[in-house]
Amino acid sequence: MEQIDVLILGAGVAGLGAALRCREMNRRAVILEARDSAGGLLDNFVIDGFRFDHAVHLSFAKEPKVREIFDRTPYLTHPADSTCFDQGTWFKHPVQNNLVPLPAQEKVALIESFLGRRDTMDEDNYENWLRHQYGDAIAERYPLRYTRKYWASEAARLSTTWIGDRMRRAQLDEILYGAFTDDTPNHYYTKEMRYPVEGGYKAFIQPLIAEAEIRLGRKVVRIDPRQRVVRCANGDEIQYGQLVSTLPLPVITTLLEDVPAAVSEAARNLVASSIDLVSVGFRRNVVRDLWFYIYDEDILASRAYAPSIKSPNNAPPGCSSLQFEAYSRGPQSQFDADTLKENTAYALQKMGIGTADDILFIDHRHVPYGNVIFDIGMEDHREIVRRHLLELGIASRGRFGEWDYLWSNQSLLSGYHWPEAL
Ligand SMILES: Cc1cc2nc3c(=O)[nH]c(=O)nc-3n(C[C@H](O)[C@H](O)[C@H](O)COP(=O)(O)OP(=O)(O)OC[C@H]3O[C@@H](n4cnc5c(N)ncnc54)[C@H](O)[C@@H]3O)c2cc1C
Repeated sequence: MEQIDVLILGAGVAGLGAALRCREMNRRAVILEARDSAGGLLDNFVIDGFRFDHAVHLSFAKEPKVREIFDRTPYLTHPADSTCFDQGTWFKHPVQNNLVPLPAQEKVALIESFLGRRDTMDEDNYENWLRHQYGDAIAERYPLRYTRKYWASEAARLSTTWIGDRMRRAQLDEILYGAFTDDTPNHYYTKEMRYPVEGGYKAFIQPLIAEAEIRLGRKVVRIDPRQRVVRCANGDEIQYGQLVSTLPLPVITTLLEDVPAAVSEAARNLVASSIDLVSVGFRRNVVRDLWFYIYDEDILASRAYAPSIKSPNNAPPGCSSLQFEAYSRGPQSQFDADTLKENTAYALQKMGIGTADDILFIDHRHVPYGNVIFDIGMEDHREIVRRHLLELGIASRGRFGEWDYLWSNQSLLSGYHWPEAL
């Protein structure tokens, strides 16, 4: 049987970061990847000269180690400007700080509710956090609805541990200012977003792909941690000195032998969102915003971005493109492909972006693991699974191996730091 010093499962950015560390330690590492190309969530696809990433991807990495890799690729920079669409009206993001397009009566009602907001939270959950931050009226009109779409979950069942700087805290002066003028400052958590000139987001990690030993089309189907043997769907069997996995925690627990019932049960409680990507190619330039959030319930997607604005090289000359993201709880989609495509054409019309005549194609594909969902109590279940893997000597890294809300730079470093995790 073949023997490999460090065997890495998954050729996403975390697996590639782990392989980089092995090269620096002069240890031989082989990556097994189920798909027929590397990159994981950072991979992309091309249709008739239009390139699409897997959901919006822009880099705001600050870490020197990551910048040293990403900055080898020529890139464009974009201001972090985005917009929101709700019932026929476009707002600057975040909507609560940019209420100016609303009729005066509605603004007054929302601001009154903000002034009367709760001082304390009875119970720490995301719904209470939103009501406490923004007041009932703003919370109910915007983020509570958006949560149902983006997290495919009621806010009351989510914790607040993931929020960090992802949500703008509400301040009276900002809300008032944005109710009077559209000349409001951008408070997004990063000012500048970077994107490769060519080759999609994946171009940032191409140097890591080029240097790693990757075996594509190797879906791992069984792991025997006592014999230290990994088996692939094609029959390959490899014995490892050290195993680094970037597979989702609920997946790896189904591949391991002799998993205690409590660990399997904990893993079943870990839920991520899956994403339906609906990608649209237009025969002319119809797009305006780098990305935008969609609140309307009759539009299934909760967000869309413009690959052709990220880089003009993502679309043929004179053309433009958008990719819509619709979310489901768990790895199976709640939608069917035809409905999504029809609904996207409807959304384009409703939002005043484009008509059927502008559309060259609408493509659909599904990504089973998108964002870790922070259900209340998730951390306890995650801890049980992570502890079990540690006991088996497996370094579980990356967004789904750590089961955390990691950006691509953080996932890279998560993989890179696998020795410290053991
Ligand atoms: C909607 C969305 C938007 C995002 N936007 C940004 C952004 O703007 N900026 C940013 O920096 N980050 C962004 N991210 C985060 C970024 O995508 C992740 O942090 C990163 O790609 C995760 O990398 P990973 O290697 O941990 O996981 P993955 O990329 O999922 O890699 C895991 C790999 O394991 C493989 N695999 C799975 N099962 C098996 C098996 N049985 N056998 C072998 N291989 C297997 C998979 O095919 C995959 O290639 C976004 C993520 C999402 C979902």
